[in-house]
Amino acid sequence: MLRASRPSFAALCGLALLASACASDHADEVPLYTCDPVPKGHPDRDMLEAIDEMGLCGSSAVDMGDSYLVEGDIRVAKSTLTDKQARTSTLVSTANIRAVTVRVADNIPNNGGVDDWRGAVQGAIAVWNAVPYNLVRLEYVTSGTPDIMFRSDLGGLPDQQAADATFPSNGEPGGDVAVNLDFDGDAPLTDGQKLFLAVHEIGHCIGLRHTNWSPLGESGAVHISGTPSSDSASVMNGGTAGFEFAGLSSYDALAIRLIYPEVVTMNVEFTGCSNGTPRMAATWGGTLVQPTIEWQLERNTNGAWSQVYRGTGHTWTFSVPTGTSLKLRVRGRSAEGWSLYRSITRTAPGCNTLPQ
Ligand SMILES: [Zn+2]
Repeated sequence: MLRASRPSFAALCGLALLASACASDHADEVPLYTCDPVPKGHPDRDMLEAIDEMGLCGSSAVDMGDSYLVEGDIRVAKSTLTDKQARTSTLVSTANIRAVTVRVADNIPNNGGVDDWRGAVQGAIAVWNAVPYNLVRLEYVTSGTPDIMFRSDLGGLPDQQAADATFPSNGEPGGDVAVNLDFDGDAPLTDGQKLFLAVHEIGHCIGLRHTNWSPLGESGAVHISGTPSSDSASVMNGGTAGFEFAGLSSYDALAIRLIYPEVVTMNVEFTGCSNGTPRMAATWGGTLVQPTIEWQLERNTNGAWSQVYRGTGHTWTFSVPTGTSLKLRVRGRSAEGWSLYRSITRTAPGCNTLPQ
């Protein structure tokens, strides 16, 4: 791990922190670096500020050609800073996305033949469930009213449209996927073609728009910061009916991780004042598969962010003077590495607004 600078804990306490924040119960937390603001005249200012928006330190970025090396050990591809994939304006709620039932209606033949989509739908569920570090969990059901129903279009779709799906609304997944059982003059679809379509349509139901929405002339999509707009491998490209499924692209998986991240709760409040100094209380959590959550707390002094504490718990309290900005960054960790940050920034209010 490399960092821009390493002011000692003792120096930071003496320099910037209040005695209450440097109490012995916090002594195992080691400040690691300072992050200066991106200089106004920097030729790559837009790119570096986009890195800041990711919760990382833009001014620490070292230009590596196609990518930046950030905070010493994080590589950020430049393409992820300039272009973006897309989502719907409304997403599935955090509570609902953890348990989405999917069913194939009785008006789709259940005979294992070319018009039977049950295998493809179960395969698509497995594809989305296998993406790590996100909350999406789909379940195949065979009875009752599901959250997402695949059904025959009953002749409603044009010949050259293989399927369509509804987008999320009111925190629920889009509930309806119509399948054109006689698509393309009733040409038989392979299992791989049906799987591609089932993965694509479920992607719409949980809030993904077409990756190539702009060249397709579509409107109203919301860019997903950190993903490219052009990704020929994306299963969410439109105009792809008849494609064989060859796996999600890495940016398809990233898009899901970005819109349904595992770190689902972050709460930073100022709960009171001690001796005229506001006290912050922070809690966070919500990981599903990652055994460790790492957090770090930064403070802004004269425009520069510096790390003041880091650790692996789920709560923290901290006392800072009124007007001080604090940024809490949390990310999950597994044997495969780190997931993405979530961050939240708060400024300490006046003590006259807080309980004493
Ligand atoms: Zn589509």
